[in-house]
Amino acid sequence: MFKRTSLIAALLATPLAAQDSAAPVGDPGLEVSEERLRADMGTIVGFETRHTLSSQTDPERGIGAAVDWALAEFERMSADCGGCLDVQAVGRVVEPDGRRIPTDTLIRNAVAIQRGTERPDEVIIVQAHYDSRVTDPLDGTSVAPGANDDGSGSVMVLEAARILSQREYPSTIIYALLTGEEQGLYGAGILADWVTEQGMTVKAVLNNDMIGNSCGADGYCEPDVVRVFSEGLRADSTERLRALQRRFGGENDSPGRNLSRWLADLAERYPDGMQVREIWRTDRMGRGGDQIPFLDRGLPAVRVTVSVEDYDHQHQDLRTEDGVKYGDTVDELDWTYLTSASRLNMRALNALALAPMPPQVSADAAVRMDTELSWSEVPGADSYTIHVRRTNEADWRDGLPEGTRGERWEGLKVTEAVDGRITDIVPLRGDDWLFGVSACNGEFCSPVASAVPGGAFEPVEQPQEE
Ligand SMILES: [Zn+2]
Repeated sequence: MFKRTSLIAALLATPLAAQDSAAPVGDPGLEVSEERLRADMGTIVGFETRHTLSSQTDPERGIGAAVDWALAEFERMSADCGGCLDVQAVGRVVEPDGRRIPTDTLIRNAVAIQRGTERPDEVIIVQAHYDSRVTDPLDGTSVAPGANDDGSGSVMVLEAARILSQREYPSTIIYALLTGEEQGLYGAGILADWVTEQGMTVKAVLNNDMIGNSCGADGYCEPDVVRVFSEGLRADSTERLRALQRRFGGENDSPGRNLSRWLADLAERYPDGMQVREIWRTDRMGRGGDQIPFLDRGLPAVRVTVSVEDYDHQHQDLRTEDGVKYGDTVDELDWTYLTSASRLNMRALNALALAPMPPQVSADAAVRMDTELSWSEVPGADSYTIHVRRTNEADWRDGLPEGTRGERWEGLKVTEAVDGRITDIVPLRGDDWLFGVSACNGEFCSPVASAVPGGAFEPVEQPQEE
């Protein structure tokens, strides 16, 4: 009798024990620790201000000490994974800009690079801005906890590095704590230039900026949804691309937009987890974020942020006025929300780092009753999936419509490629449909790249300067 009970208990205990050991298989979202998020938040808020114009040299207070701590923390994680993280302070001195940089200012990002085992030049970036501010954007001395904006994204990035560095991936992951965001997106611009100089191919940038509150000042709450902002027309578009898109389409198929669709799909697979509301604009009205310097350079990027903003607790001097408390403080955070948003990031990074790059896809459907799709062979892909949607549909369909061929394009071997390209005829009239292809490695498929001009996950070719 006793024996039997203990056997059942042992069986029940097995999966939990496997989770606790942080084994490099299964869902990394389950490894997110609210306790660690809270501990890191306590540490970074303890620097009192992380304003970009605050002290670079004070060992305890200001951005210098905060960045030094983050670099040391990345180094500690690296020691725990046999030196798997290349930790760097990626930065430079920015000259006065007549706006929010009054004097020569060192902009230093804390960056950890986990090199891919197969395709180290292919990179996914998870980032948050580490700097904080109060009401006056030039105030580098007042206490500016920046708990939600963007301490929340920052502690998630640290947790991502901690969890995912215990696993190995074919492609590279960069964990980045950026500074200078509130002064004009400087740190993101510096990192975007740096990855380009390194010759890296950017698969995706997940810019997390404010992922730690669920209610607005009016009491309206949405505890289970994050917004993902993606650009429509590409920021790096050219006259030539605009002309091509007029002839062939592509207004709603930028790489960022397809990354957004991919994230929404991923979230749906975890119905109890954080869901995605896709917002089809680059950022909130009149505002910006660190995804923008990447988009400017033609690199696929989205902003992940809270569903409901609380303006009383961002960019505010700490004070109480007419009984209303202002300031971006730790006590205003929703830890369940932040933990859940962090889980979504872990799952997304894991899947993106295991998936191949999206292919470059083109469609020929002019004056014909079917569509010839052709796409580039992608390193690390063992199969490809064709996706279709009506021109006025928001999302890619699951599989091809009734009357066309099978649901998933399985098992196409890369050896079938001719001159590096794979071709297939889809029995649908191309004028009435949009097409895209994702590249898969087992169950992990890339975001869809659309078969339209400007749909590829690479910068648009710029005209030669005269
Ligand atoms: Zn922010």
